[in-house]
Amino acid sequence: MLEKGLVEGVICVQNKPEDRFGPMPIIATTREEILAARVNKPTLSPNLNLLDQVEQSGMKRLLAIGVGCQIQALRAVQDKIGLEKLYVLGTPCTDNVTRSGLQKFLDTTSRSPETVVYYEFMQDFNVHFKHEDGSQELVPFFGLNTKELKDVFAPSCLSCFDYVNSLADLVVGYMGAPFGWQWIVVRNEMGQEMLDLVQGQLETQAVDSRGDRKAAVQQSIPAYDKAVTLPMWFAKIMGVVIDKIGPKGLEYARFSIDSHFTRNYLHVKRNHPGMVDQHVPPYAQKIVSQYKLPD
Ligand SMILES: Cc1cc2nc3c(=O)[nH]c(=O)nc-3n(C[C@H](O)[C@H](O)[C@H](O)COP(=O)(O)OP(=O)(O)OC[C@H]3O[C@@H](n4cnc5c(N)ncnc54)[C@H](O)[C@@H]3O)c2cc1C
Repeated sequence: MLEKGLVEGVICVQNKPEDRFGPMPIIATTREEILAARVNKPTLSPNLNLLDQVEQSGMKRLLAIGVGCQIQALRAVQDKIGLEKLYVLGTPCTDNVTRSGLQKFLDTTSRSPETVVYYEFMQDFNVHFKHEDGSQELVPFFGLNTKELKDVFAPSCLSCFDYVNSLADLVVGYMGAPFGWQWIVVRNEMGQEMLDLVQGQLETQAVDSRGDRKAAVQQSIPAYDKAVTLPMWFAKIMGVVIDKIGPKGLEYARFSIDSHFTRNYLHVKRNHPGMVDQHVPPYAQKIVSQYKLPD
């Protein structure tokens, strides 16, 4: 989009020179700067600090890449920062953490926290770590030390109901896709325009949906509440079994959305009881109402 002149700058997130996971939002104006922003930095990133710079730069056409909370805030002020055209490329996002929370996650979960260069929660029910030497480490979701990690998520993420980044024009994530593929959601004409630019370079297939998420979501509710942590050998077996018979494709995406929405609904209800109706959107209330929730 930069090279075709559709935009003059791109908001994206590089990492700090001294910290591979430290988010450093920038307004990129070259292909190299954008490519240097590849890879998820799984911590809260202050992207909106750049909006003053956008306004001062006099840029009229901008592409912003970001997660749901950043995009919601951006949409609220987009008419006030001098832009004529704003394209939004979003990623789904859940369970983000502060930089210190990320360290706690690495320290409690990885066999070698200091050599992790990348990690992602994936749709095969494992966390995939990549280490400096190129080796991979898989830790099943069911083996996570939930007792230690329960408080690691940012309170903003525990009360978020915009997992799928609903205000972006185009969304790219992995939920909803078979393992190793990305899932693309086009929300409007601008999203289609962006996708058309790269469509010829993409290998695509139709979305698939298999399994039934309901029982798995229902079981996840007390398991999270009681911070159940399984022995690793059992967690590995569970991971293999669930990967074989559990929800896949779109049904995995629904599993992930429903289990996070039920957890977050309980968080809001317990911590901000007077705000449930105002804060939890109707679509989320509808999802949550399919499950039996504790008080
Ligand atoms: C905090 C976070 C949580 C995520 N959770 C999920 C999830 O639950 N389910 C899912 O399907 N996908 C999730 N994603 C998206 C996923 O990690 C990939 O970004 C997505 O699948 C696109 O892959 P890619 O290889 O094309 O991205 P990449 O080429 O790696 O590009 C990633 C883009 O994300 C931007 N970025 C990196 N870190 C941040 C940050 N902290 N805040 C804002 N923007 C950032 C970069 O600017 C870059 O342009 C999450 C992303 C982030 C940043």
